[in-house]
Amino acid sequence: MAHPKTALVTGSTSGIGLAVAEALAGSGTRVMLNGLGTPAQIEAARAKVGAYGVEVDFNGADLSTAAGVEGLIRATEARFGAIDVLINNAGIQHTARIENFPAERWDAILAINLTAAFHALRCALPGMQARGAGRIINIASVHGLVASVEKSAYVAAKHGILGLTKVTALENAESGITCNAICPGWVLTPLVQKQIDARAERDGLSATDAERALLAEKQPSLRFTRPEDIGGAVLFLCGPAADNITGSTITLDGGWSAR
Ligand code: NAD
Repeated sequence: MAHPKTALVTGSTSGIGLAVAEALAGSGTRVMLNGLGTPAQIEAARAKVGAYGVEVDFNGADLSTAAGVEGLIRATEARFGAIDVLINNAGIQHTARIENFPAERWDAILAINLTAAFHALRCALPGMQARGAGRIINIASVHGLVASVEKSAYVAAKHGILGLTKVTALENAESGITCNAICPGWVLTPLVQKQIDARAERDGLSATDAERALLAEKQPSLRFTRPEDIGGAVLFLCGPAADNITGSTITLDGGWSAR
């Protein structure tokens, strides 16, 4: 597509979403940020992305409800006139075996990691269809492709979002809109730091040893994927070389899903 003018990145006050927002801003795209966080965190994200010299705004909609997602899409369209690039990124995690998994954590993970993307698509697609152009990128996970113990809700949501990606691609295949997913392995963000801290405490390990154990168990490259690597993959999918890539996944998992 022609160079995208505006992007909405959900969950961009932290981690991967923030890095994706920076990558898009660095390529000259205006960005609507979204996510939870303290006023200081939100200001820091705004300043970081704004430093690229593009217009940046923030909307703090809570994506766990349909009304929250719908409000975010409408506010972004009103602020920037259109959404050229939609990045469904916001996500949460909880780990426990199924028999101990709190039902309200299941509901929250499905709502934020999967249902929010459906509502965002439902509300943003008509505008893209009317313009005959759009790029949709769902930040899934290697857990969209394979499973791990104690992650029932997360794995179910991430497998679900890969299915949703394919349906979106098919329904819009002739419309100038592409929809793809990115599947990262371990990326060192607050979401993963919590799991490293829990492992350090459970196994009596130092922070460094807990990081090493986490990588050794799953990620053959033995290093974290960097948030900016996800930004690079997003720019590729938004660029002209990706015009005929739709319904696909790009996996950045250091070999995790190869074995
Ligand atoms: P993170 O915790 O750093 O960021 C999550 C973002 O989502 C934050 O901005 C947070 O405020 C936002 N968010 C959470 N609940 C929200 C809600 N109810 N409404 C609006 N925003 C909300 O995590 P991250 O690691 O950057 O994760 C981003 C995405 O990448 C998630 O979908 C995650 O599943 C996926 N992912 C992460 C990894 C990893 O190793 N970190 C690997 C694969 C996939």
